[in-house]
Amino acid sequence: MKTALEVSKKKTTNLFQPVRVYFEQEALNYPLGRQIYERVQKEGTEIKMVGSHNRVTGIPGDTPQMSYREAKRTLVVGVRRSKNFESCKPSAHYQLPLVTSCPGMCEYCYLNTTLGKKPYVRVYVNIEEILTRAREYINQRKPEITIFEGAATSDPVPVEYLSGALRRAIEFFGQQEYGRFRFVTKFTEVEGLLSLQHNGHTRFRFSINSDQVISRYERRTPPLKERIQAAGKVFKAGYPLGFIVAPIFVYDGWQQDYRKLFEELYCQLGKVQDLTFEFITHRFTRRAKANILSLFPQSDLPMEEQQRQFKFGQFGYGKFIYPKETLQEIESFMKSMVKEFFPQAKTEYFV
Ligand code: SF4
Repeated sequence: MKTALEVSKKKTTNLFQPVRVYFEQEALNYPLGRQIYERVQKEGTEIKMVGSHNRVTGIPGDTPQMSYREAKRTLVVGVRRSKNFESCKPSAHYQLPLVTSCPGMCEYCYLNTTLGKKPYVRVYVNIEEILTRAREYINQRKPEITIFEGAATSDPVPVEYLSGALRRAIEFFGQQEYGRFRFVTKFTEVEGLLSLQHNGHTRFRFSINSDQVISRYERRTPPLKERIQAAGKVFKAGYPLGFIVAPIFVYDGWQQDYRKLFEELYCQLGKVQDLTFEFITHRFTRRAKANILSLFPQSDLPMEEQQRQFKFGQFGYGKFIYPKETLQEIESFMKSMVKEFFPQAKTEYFV
């Protein structure tokens, strides 16, 4: 069997190419840490050592925009020490912490708020320890099935050629009677994952949107056409497939655009037996809005508070969502699209 690095040698053009890589000293005690170190050293990438992957200093940038851009070009290789996994509703029981952040620069990304001003990309080299912990969670809940989400705080695909984390997780869950895995991506470098023994235990999902939303707001991510082609390969490889349509925006012509999206999916995939959809409408908090406008001062993301409904949350945290009638209109439209194009598919949730 080929290693993740061997698979990656075929094509590296669309992959994340960090301009600097920071290592925790302890990461070099793991074979994967040394493997990544040797690779980036050979490629002549700037290397630095850091005390902790949680406290990285020295990423350049005099303004919030520059710091953000530089952080998105920075890779940190560390050891994941936290023993507990976060819960992950509504898509799974637990997060599986394999990667943090992603090199994409989607304007609306919630990681822009949760990961601070420098959302550098992190990979963890102690994958076996993380999977051992996952096995303990599975054992605690069996005979119930326990589902783990591999993309709760990241898009893991762009760094897969370096970390091999998805590959290892998919094979691990392929062997678990009571454990299931799922992750979502906007990226298209899926070749190295197609021949794995997934045994139908990993749901491979793609995050998609209308062409207009992708070209306006999802910077440094592949276009819709390429994502749908990648989904076609994943489908042919026998994975349970899923799509997250998010964030859904209402704008002039939104229904035609989202209809076109379903038409393109149908053209590529035809009938799919095991298919799921998740729908998430656009929402924002005041904090997220301030962060987005400091990172993308020219952004035209629709964030007019008076056009939204305020939904109170726990601890005084609240968000601006579409008004109830608009949400109902979006939900009924999306459900009609699923019914028309993929009547056998399951809609997991609409929020
Ligand atoms: Fe965020 Fe996903 Fe875009 Fe990456 S691809 S910036 S994780 S929304």
